[in-house]
Amino acid sequence: MMKKKLTTSAGAPVTNNQRSQTAGKRGPVLMQDYKLFEKLAHQNRERIPERVVHAKGWGAMGTFTVTKDISKYTRAKLFSEVGKQTPILSRFSTVAGEMGAADTERDVRGFSLKFYTEEGNWDLVGNNTPVFFLRDGYKFPDFIHTQKRHPKTNLRSPEAMWDYWSLSPESLHQVTILMSDRGIPISPMHMNGYGSHTFSFWNNDGERFWVKFHFKTQQGHKHYTNEETAEVIGQTREKYQEELYGAIEQGKFPKWTMKVQIMPEADAEKTPYNPFDLTKVWPHADYPLIEVGEIELNQNPENYWQYIENAAYSPSNVVPGIGFSPDKVLQARIFSYADAHRYRLGTHYEALPANMPLNEVNHYHKDGAMRFFTNDFGNPDAYYEPNTKDGAFEDQSVEEPPMKINGDIMRYEENDTFGDYKQPGDLFRMFNAEQKARLYSNIAAAMDGVSMDIIERQLVHFDKADQEYGDGVRKALGISQMADY
Ligand code: NDP
Repeated sequence: MMKKKLTTSAGAPVTNNQRSQTAGKRGPVLMQDYKLFEKLAHQNRERIPERVVHAKGWGAMGTFTVTKDISKYTRAKLFSEVGKQTPILSRFSTVAGEMGAADTERDVRGFSLKFYTEEGNWDLVGNNTPVFFLRDGYKFPDFIHTQKRHPKTNLRSPEAMWDYWSLSPESLHQVTILMSDRGIPISPMHMNGYGSHTFSFWNNDGERFWVKFHFKTQQGHKHYTNEETAEVIGQTREKYQEELYGAIEQGKFPKWTMKVQIMPEADAEKTPYNPFDLTKVWPHADYPLIEVGEIELNQNPENYWQYIENAAYSPSNVVPGIGFSPDKVLQARIFSYADAHRYRLGTHYEALPANMPLNEVNHYHKDGAMRFFTNDFGNPDAYYEPNTKDGAFEDQSVEEPPMKINGDIMRYEENDTFGDYKQPGDLFRMFNAEQKARLYSNIAAAMDGVSMDIIERQLVHFDKADQEYGDGVRKALGISQMADY
């Protein structure tokens, strides 16, 4: 094969890629050596801002295949017939750690999927947990501050985490999952994914259903204990990349079964819990899981940066047949994710290969960073809308049916009688004795060095979920009775 010739980024031949141009053998370097400056300048620009959350990630390409017909719930074309396949791009991540953080730390995992459908990209930007620490996006920046570094010590702060959690009982459900065995999956392949939020489906008859998405791992759940992960991190900080990349290279393609829970629109008025509350699940007994399809990851990207670092997922990316819900955290994320990408990647970030839809894109957003597409519909006169110049125009046939919301405008407290303790208690009561023992010791380890008044406040939450829960944590902390503190 003929060797390729090295060029500058403008395509001019590079004659010597080892030596600077100097005046005389011993220098100095000349101002005119633009090839040297181009090389150094590019190195200076090899980083973009890392994500504020979910900075460290792993991902691959794959396929979604429909196995069951759910077209009575949604007109979304990707679900239109059994056997239909849609290309996908996945990205998994930890939440708090920076890009260099170890993969197997105790943390929630991001579980994001981009479906390149014929009617645009659908992004499901979920986690490996069905709930989250808060039910209102207004709280998100403060919560994330507790997970990141302390402004003075520049260290993670258990004091801040438990101070916040103990003042926010709505976090207890997610805290219980985080401190359970599922807090440290051994790889992205050995965990479930959840859309977490309530979304909506709407069908060709204009009927709406509320929907939750679940992805059940077919590799089985496997998790590290605190002791095991300390050993793993001592050996490698890149365990997930090694495992996921390696499995796909060896042809061992990981798979998940996609399932949905469907709630008729009117039921939302009747459930004892707010079905749009991100700190709550819909019990399977009330809304059983319905199989939809299977996702398989079967291709590593040729370039990690191009496809995984540049991957920009946003809950705002829905397609006809899939819509939002009044979930307050979802509503906040619809703004903040696309905003983060415009800041981090640039104005036209959806023109990057990882984010580019497979169907034709026609819009009138004009110039700005990354405007490397013509977008003139074959006619340069059609650069505004409405026009008589054969430019793209709206399609009202795929307008979502109206969503009826009643209520006065104010900043509401969540005040359903269902409370913050029932579901964490239900989860706790599912654990066997060994799982409970590990939960207690994981919490005790995570509380190391935390002030006693904060621990006391948090213990009351465990008690309210289940007295056995609070007592078990007390014992693991070496506090045998209430009177001890
Ligand atoms: P079910 O018995 O029908 O379902 C229990 C669920 O718990 C299963 O989906 C199981 O996932 C999951 N699970 C098991 N161990 C853990 C763990 N350590 N951390 C997180 N999830 C775990 O019960 P309900 O639907 O009535 O829910 C009871 C409790 O189960 C809830 O309060 C919630 O905490 C938890 N849960 C419920 C989910 C739901 O959507 N209803 C989803 C996930 C958790 P798998 O089948 O993959 O093993």
